[in-house]
Amino acid sequence: EKVDATEKTLGVVREMAAAMEEHRAELTQLDSAIGDGDHGTNMHRGFQAALERLETSEPSTPADVLKVVSMALVSKVGGAAGPLYGTAFLRASSALPGEGKPSAADVAAALEAALQGIKQRGRAEPGDKTMVDALEPAVRAARESGGEGVAAMLRAAASAAAEGAEATIPLTARKGRASYLGARSAGHKDPGAASTAYLLAAAARALEA
Ligand code: ADP
Ligand code: MG
Ligand code: MG
Repeated sequence: EKVDATEKTLGVVREMAAAMEEHRAELTQLDSAIGDGDHGTNMHRGFQAALERLETSEPSTPADVLKVVSMALVSKVGGAAGPLYGTAFLRASSALPGEGKPSAADVAAALEAALQGIKQRGRAEPGDKTMVDALEPAVRAARESGGEGVAAMLRAAASAAAEGAEATIPLTARKGRASYLGARSAGHKDPGAASTAYLLAAAARALEA
C-alpha cells in the first residue's frame, strides 16, 4: 500500500514525539547542568500538544502538518526553545511545496529555511553552543548528500547533527541561559543541540521504516 506524503509526515512527527518522550530525562539533565532543567519537559509537552492538535485538525499536505506542529510548539514549549523551534517548523512548512510529494531538494530547502529562521530569531552563530551547532552541520550534510532520497538525506543530516551536538561540549555558551554561566558552561553538551539531533534522527527513522 502506498503511503502518501501527508501520512509519512505525520509518521515523522509521531517518531519525533516518541523521541522527546524517550530522551525527556536526559535532555532535562543536560539542561540542569547549564540551564534551568526544563528542556526535556518543555519539548515533551510541546510534541504531545502537537500530536493532540494533529488529531483534531485535518492537515492535507506535509506543509500543513509542519504548520500545526509549529503552532503547538510556540504555544506549549515556552522558554527559549519554544519560539525557536516554532519558527523552525513554520519556515520549513513554508519552504515545502503546496501540494505533491516533497523531493529531496525540497526537504533540504526546508531544513535550510528552518536554520535561517532559528538564526534570525535567536541571533546565534555557529560556536555559540546552541541548537545552531547541530542544525548547521545537518543542513550542510543534507545539501551534500546526493540523490539517495529523503530518508538517506535525513540520516546524513542526523549524523552530522549528533556530531555537532557532541562538539558543543567544550564550548562556552554565548546565547541563552547557559551564557550566564560563562566559562562554567564548558564541559557540558548543549541541550537544544541534543534535542535537534534526536529530532532529525527520528525523522530519518520514520522515513526509513
Ligand atoms: P530555557 O533556556 O528558556 O529554559 P529550553 O531549556 O527549553 O529554554 O531551551 C534551551 C536551549 O535553547 C539551549 O540549549 C539552546 O540550544 C537553545 N537556545 C537558547 N537561546 C538560543 C538562541 N539565542 N539561539 C539559538 N538557540 C538558543
Ligand atoms: Mg531550560
Ligand atoms: Mg526554562
